[in-house]
Amino acid sequence: MKTILITGGAGFIGSNFVRYLYDKYPEYRLIVLDALTYAGNIKNLPVDINSGSDERLVFWYGNVRNGELVDTIMSQSDAVVHFAAESHVTRSIYDNLLFFETDVLGTQTVANAVLKYRDRIERFVHISTSEVYGTAMAERMSEDHPLLPMSPYASAKCGADRLVYSYWETYKIPAIIVRPFNNYGPYQHLEKVVPRFITSCLLGEPLTVHGDGTAARDFLHVQDHCEALDLILHASREKVVGEVINIGTGCHTDLITIANTVRRLMRPDKSPVQYIGDRPGQVFRHTCDNTRASKLLGWAPKISFEEGLDRTVRWYRDNETWWRPQMWMRHIPIVTAAGKRELH
Ligand code: NAD
Repeated sequence: MKTILITGGAGFIGSNFVRYLYDKYPEYRLIVLDALTYAGNIKNLPVDINSGSDERLVFWYGNVRNGELVDTIMSQSDAVVHFAAESHVTRSIYDNLLFFETDVLGTQTVANAVLKYRDRIERFVHISTSEVYGTAMAERMSEDHPLLPMSPYASAKCGADRLVYSYWETYKIPAIIVRPFNNYGPYQHLEKVVPRFITSCLLGEPLTVHGDGTAARDFLHVQDHCEALDLILHASREKVVGEVINIGTGCHTDLITIANTVRRLMRPDKSPVQYIGDRPGQVFRHTCDNTRASKLLGWAPKISFEEGLDRTVRWYRDNETWWRPQMWMRHIPIVTAAGKRELH
């Protein structure tokens, strides 16, 4: 029986991955470590923690910065997938302390525990982000694209990414650095753009678009991301350990197209597009070069943006009781580059 530690497993991508593993590998034992910040929700997990113990999924309520706790859990694990982070770019503009504490120092704690138990830990999958690259300087961004993070979130994640790389170089811990592009799908917090647009339509509110709406990202359905992580967990170690791997579709979509596609799928009466100031530190475009993921893992995304968006719209329509409590966190006050205070 394999034991997999998943940090941040009660968040958006983490919980989708926990559900994926829980369904696909009945023989695995999963340990979820999560501090249940505003972004984590115990109800995202595939089992009801309140109804007693489940041998296959053990939940630890705790902070990745607690070295003793992380050591205890690491000593029982065979592989680690480290998602735990503060993850929202706009929130990092408003208050970034926690981003550096969790994303950088939390990763240091996890990496130290991997080092301590390296005889047992077979692989350490660190979830970085495409945000480390800054805006695209080439048509597609490969893993060799310069690292030019443009927001406090991106710089904290970049610090964590390079920290893990340095532990690989120095101590040869079995690290794999994954750089996913923008994810969307079920269980994503309302602060993120796709759920924000969908719920704006459901609520009959305008869809607020940053700048002129041409900022574009490579949108990846979370299910495709989970499949890539599954392949990374199960590829031969020689193939993947020490690698940096982009996970994205290779196509980008701009904000105005997303807003209009959501409006077309939902046919709202009272939800026009409304432009607001650009986000400071806005990345203009991200487009993934996924050649390495394809060559190393044989991975390719399967879900088109239109289909993924349609599935996501349906999920938010059907799960209002899940997203209602997050309403007060949909917008964040920030001061724009022009010195104007706006809700983003
Ligand atoms: P999320 O904000 O939905 O979830 C983060 C989870 O981490 C939450 O459950 C939260 O409670 C937990 N957490 C936060 N601080 C913690 C701490 N100190 N100790 C333990 N747990 C803590 O984030 P997400 O969107 O699921 O992203 C997961 C990972 O993927 C992050 O590392 C993020 O940087 C990365 N990523 C996300 C995207 C995306 O589009 N969402 C894209 C690329 C990379």
